[in-house]
Amino acid sequence: PLVLGIETSCDETGVGVVRGRTLLADAVASSVDEHARFGGVVPEIASRAHLEAMVPTIERALAEAGVSARDLDGVAVTAGPGLAGALLVGVSAAKAYAYALGKPLYGVNHLASHIAVDQLEHGALPEPTMALLVSGGHSSLLLAPDITADVRPLGSTIDDAAGEAFDKIARILQLGFPGGPVIDRYAREGDPAAIAFPRGLTGPRDAPYDFSFSGLKTAVARWVEARRAAGENVPVADVAASFQEAVTDVLTRKAIRACRDEGVDHLMIGGGVAANTRLRALAEERCADAGITLRVPRPKLCTDNGAMVAALGAEMVARGRSVSSWDLPADSSLPVTEPHVPGTAAP
Ligand code: ATP
Ligand code: MG
Ligand code: FE
Repeated sequence: PLVLGIETSCDETGVGVVRGRTLLADAVASSVDEHARFGGVVPEIASRAHLEAMVPTIERALAEAGVSARDLDGVAVTAGPGLAGALLVGVSAAKAYAYALGKPLYGVNHLASHIAVDQLEHGALPEPTMALLVSGGHSSLLLAPDITADVRPLGSTIDDAAGEAFDKIARILQLGFPGGPVIDRYAREGDPAAIAFPRGLTGPRDAPYDFSFSGLKTAVARWVEARRAAGENVPVADVAASFQEAVTDVLTRKAIRACRDEGVDHLMIGGGVAANTRLRALAEERCADAGITLRVPRPKLCTDNGAMVAALGAEMVARGRSVSSWDLPADSSLPVTEPHVPGTAAP
């Protein structure tokens, strides 16, 4: 099926086009620069930027794909979770577009899309797939017997998300926003063993699949403050590398343990933090040791984009999932257990 996907859950206006599991176009307009001076995404600015970017980004994606809107088999859209006002722009656009063209509408879950996108890179996901979802707002281990209908959370963060931790540490180090890419860059020049930062929730009595990054954040902040108070230079690259090592060590350890416990031999890593070069390398190394096949999409498909929405939408069409009704709501706290949002009224 030929499917167009629209993503507006945060600050990226993404429109992608796929044919089945083949990526045809991935157009992204980001308002990230407009948020940088506030140190975080400002919802009102994001919504307005989506409104302005929506139509040009749809046109760009269709042109890039070289297809006509008339030939689409469906329009998929992120129904949640995310920023309410931002989601509303995408959902409204998708409804208007699908209705005008006479095409079926599919409301899909942003988190499930972060997993489904890997089908564009590595083909059909094994069933079940173990997924480590690490992004700006979420960090979870998910067992996915069917990405369109059955996603089961095994554990998740009890405080900060992994991406949020990267953003906070970048702020402490005064490296700007978003923090992930810049920490990743600095860490390459640093020593990951320079400072022994704590690994949260890794004790024998701790929940095996839950994460905690707020203690790590506090430890890094204290360490940096102590240096500054003593008038010493802060070795930014070493702090970045040691912090990044603590995060990626815990993420990979727990993901592999979940695979072993559940008897799953495929691990997928998705979400913005999956773009992290150390996470990718360490997961590669540890999965190889454990006999687990690792699947991580290319970095551009890890951060928010429309192709991931189209990928999940195409799978919905292929599996005959029901079409969403025209009253499809934008749900800012849509749980990951609902990959597909049918709406309430008959289509
Ligand atoms: P969610 O998907 O939970 O709704 P989101 O959509 O804001 O959150 P994504 O776009 O999936 O999040 O990911 C953004 C996050 O990924 C940010 O916190 C950013 O710092 C982080 N990130 C991006 N690139 C990297 C990287 N190379 N290393 C570490 N973190 C990264
Ligand atoms: Mg973003
Ligand atoms: Fe995301």
